[in-house]
Amino acid sequence: MDKTARLEAKWIIPVSSPPLEDGVIIIRKGRIAFIGEKGGCPDLYCDEIIDCQEQIVMPGLVNPHTHLALSGLKGRIRQGSGFTDWIREVVSYTRKMSREEIISCVKTGIDELVSAGTTTIGDISRSGYSWKSLKESGLRGIVYIEVIGFNRSQREKEMESLRVCAESLASKNGRVIFGVSPHSPYTLSRELLKESYGFAAERDYPVAIHIAETVPESEFIEKGTGEIRDLMIEFGLWDEGWSPPGDSPVKYLNNLGVLKGILGIHLNYVDDHDLALLKENEVSVIFCPGSNQWFGRDIRYPLSGFLERGINVALGTDSLASNWKLNLFEEMRMTNNLFPQLDYHHIIEMCTINGARALNMENQIGTLSIGKYADIAIIDLPDHKIDDPEEYVVTEVDRVRFTLLQGNPIQ
Ligand SMILES: [Zn+2]
Repeated sequence: MDKTARLEAKWIIPVSSPPLEDGVIIIRKGRIAFIGEKGGCPDLYCDEIIDCQEQIVMPGLVNPHTHLALSGLKGRIRQGSGFTDWIREVVSYTRKMSREEIISCVKTGIDELVSAGTTTIGDISRSGYSWKSLKESGLRGIVYIEVIGFNRSQREKEMESLRVCAESLASKNGRVIFGVSPHSPYTLSRELLKESYGFAAERDYPVAIHIAETVPESEFIEKGTGEIRDLMIEFGLWDEGWSPPGDSPVKYLNNLGVLKGILGIHLNYVDDHDLALLKENEVSVIFCPGSNQWFGRDIRYPLSGFLERGINVALGTDSLASNWKLNLFEEMRMTNNLFPQLDYHHIIEMCTINGARALNMENQIGTLSIGKYADIAIIDLPDHKIDDPEEYVVTEVDRVRFTLLQGNPIQ
């Protein structure tokens, strides 16, 4: 938006400060030029008035963990089977998918995210197909190209395809940024973990890794046994030369030197030493309550551990292969149910500024503050009177009326 717009709202949740009743935001060239009470607003000429007198206005939500290409698996994967059975089912579906089907799944996922107020995402993509759709959608985000290769024989091919992707997609400009996702400690060899992380670090690409999501993962990294080993053998990926690290997944990645500054996804099973390493390495953690619930996991401990140590925690949905919706309002509600001691403001931070921090975008988005982009979610007020808009957002909201990205409506 090159023009100047004046947005008037019944409630504004800036996140960086307490909610504001009857507030005004001036948007100039896509950025916030003023936010405050009506009385304090300078009397400027505005090209457009955005009337939100019956709405709540808050920063667009940030969902740092999705796999949009899996959106077509919504409701198709059996719940209640073990983790490796889940992998078998997902692989059997995705192997059959054509390029067109994947792109259509990505678009379905984007539509669902937008209707739930999301303006920025971190998407993990094996094929890179979400890049173009994300660019076309106008959303902001990072597409992390997924690297997988447990058997050492896969290393060269994986690195070559990462290089090709980086050459064709990576650019420092624009709303969509190139990233790298070595999938997990149990799906990459030591060499490939180090090489893919090093490739990203040299070029300043952000890195995301799934870590300590399940008990079988911890067993495999600790002892080299269990259902993950069985799966590797079944898929013909087992490497006779691989020896178990004998550590927790977090300690293993730290020992390999691939933990620094990454986005750590899940981290459901961690101990005190792991938490200290996460803090020391400035890892941002993505907690996925909906996905945990989908799998039937009752995960509570780590969130309090992250928060006590001042580790940055954001909420993520993960994919529709292991969640019912791509809706951060749902994730906020689940977090509120799991941790009633957390205040509503803190839960909202986990879906806005903490997510922005996790994607290294905290200077641009995540709060409604002067100088930041006008990425805004606009929510209808209910029929009943509300005293605390933050409580309403966390406990009752499911979708938005519309969203703005740099001041422009997302279609
Ligand atoms: Zn994931």
